[in-house]
Amino acid sequence: MSTDKPAEQSRPEKPKTSPGRRKFLSGMAGAAGCGCLMALGVGVYSHQASALAALALRPPGALPEAEFLAACTRCGLCVRDCPPGILKLAAPGDPVPTGTPYFTARTGPCEMCPDIPCIRNCPTGALDPKLEDINEARMGLAVLIDQETCIAFLGLRCEICHNVCPVSAEKTTADGQVERIKAITLEKRHNPRSDKHAMLLPTVHSDLCTGCGLCEKACILAESAIRVLPPALAQGRIGEHYLKGWEEKEKHGGSLIGPQQEFEVRGLEGRAYGDTRVYDGPPPRLDDLADPPDPEFFNGPAPGSEP
Ligand code: SF4
Ligand code: SF4
Ligand code: SF4
Repeated sequence: MSTDKPAEQSRPEKPKTSPGRRKFLSGMAGAAGCGCLMALGVGVYSHQASALAALALRPPGALPEAEFLAACTRCGLCVRDCPPGILKLAAPGDPVPTGTPYFTARTGPCEMCPDIPCIRNCPTGALDPKLEDINEARMGLAVLIDQETCIAFLGLRCEICHNVCPVSAEKTTADGQVERIKAITLEKRHNPRSDKHAMLLPTVHSDLCTGCGLCEKACILAESAIRVLPPALAQGRIGEHYLKGWEEKEKHGGSLIGPQQEFEVRGLEGRAYGDTRVYDGPPPRLDDLADPPDPEFFNGPAPGSEP
């Protein structure tokens, strides 16, 4: 009995590949693989580059995010020269475009070095050298994100975030006094729960806050109730077409529409203009009131009167 295998014998012989051709083909396969990985890398990178993660903050003076990414060469000199070492270069997998500098307020806030060495050592201007005063930096904005857990909003005493805030400036108050205030002030409110004590509520002033993150780091809660968010996340933007009447009035030194005609509202005849209070029974006539309301209470000061 023959042990020959006819099927195998009839299979056509594979064309022989020369060693040179094999090398060429494996080189091409390697290049294609690299190309795929690069495409994947670029895809991931551009996904990351579209927005800065909520808890990642750029160093002081960073240009707006898109311009910053274009200008930063990922050299790491700002990171090297940050004295407290809070800046990091993003590694692959971090929620920030790889190789770019950032810090996280809760674990390492910016200590606001007066000479701003991170900016002085940036060779490309991605950290704007025109920023000379660290108090003018806008790395982010502190936002009290949770009134349900903040100790002060619970009516208990905590003013740690206010105490650690290093930024303050002189401001003119409504009654013309000049006061030095911090970027976080404590606003006094009635405590409706105890009905006895005042609540001192931390309030951030966006025109002063540098976004250093010292308040977020210091918050005594297990998860901070105050967080510094990148500027684009922290604030809205009013449409260009909105004009604030009170600002326009101030700019023009008075009302833009001049004196207004006052019309009586039907059913409120005889009452001071603007007095829409609800009375039990028929509303008293203005002339009948023993203690008539001061018209200025409703109408503001009469034109030309002393303030
Ligand atoms: S100001 Fe100082 S602490 Fe803040 S990022 Fe720059 S070098 Fe670091
Ligand atoms: S981030 Fe906090 S501590 Fe820093 S300036 Fe703003 S309010 Fe003050
Ligand atoms: S430190 Fe935290 S808990 Fe205390 S007042 Fe500030 S935000 Fe509230």
